[in-house]
Amino acid sequence: MFAVDANDDTMTLQLCEMATEIRDKLEVCGLKQSRVLTIEIADGASHPLANCLAYFYCEFDLVRVTNPSTWDALLEEDQAYAGLPANVTLKALLTHEITHALVAQTAGDREVALVDQEYIAASMELEFMEEAWRDVLLGASTVTLPPKVGLIDIWIYAFSPRKFAVNAWQHFNLPENGCAPVQQIVVGDVSFSKAVRPELR
Ligand SMILES: [Zn+2]
Repeated sequence: MFAVDANDDTMTLQLCEMATEIRDKLEVCGLKQSRVLTIEIADGASHPLANCLAYFYCEFDLVRVTNPSTWDALLEEDQAYAGLPANVTLKALLTHEITHALVAQTAGDREVALVDQEYIAASMELEFMEEAWRDVLLGASTVTLPPKVGLIDIWIYAFSPRKFAVNAWQHFNLPENGCAPVQQIVVGDVSFSKAVRPELR
């Protein structure tokens, strides 16, 4: 179910193993893979968003990750990620983008609002991370508990993606939340989008 295009065999194998593990964990949260997903390592940041280490192209079922050997310069911007080993960052990026892909595949023809897509991707990215590394990212952020629904907002995502992500995971991590709201979002019952919003608190 994965077509991996990386320059060397070690990286190819590593991406296959990581992707399979991530896919299996996402399925537990109701996000199911129904089509082949291509994962590609690209040299340089050839993404629509400048300085973006990974990107999901929904119309092509394609996840593109910038070659880890070129991350140094790109990571200067994001000190929190720079504190993580490359493998941990790679798994975090893959988790984030594969989540976007499987949200889109699970939702089928229904379009999931961008804020909802990013809520789920950010939550899974931090949820699947080992606690010690997650703590590094949480520690680097200024977000305080309890999580605030008001911060699950597309403008917060746009201007402060790290703050958005930490707050999203903290919201996901509340005992009353977890995978249930994720599944409700994907089937279209609830949304954080202000344009659509029936209750999600
Ligand atoms: Zn995203």
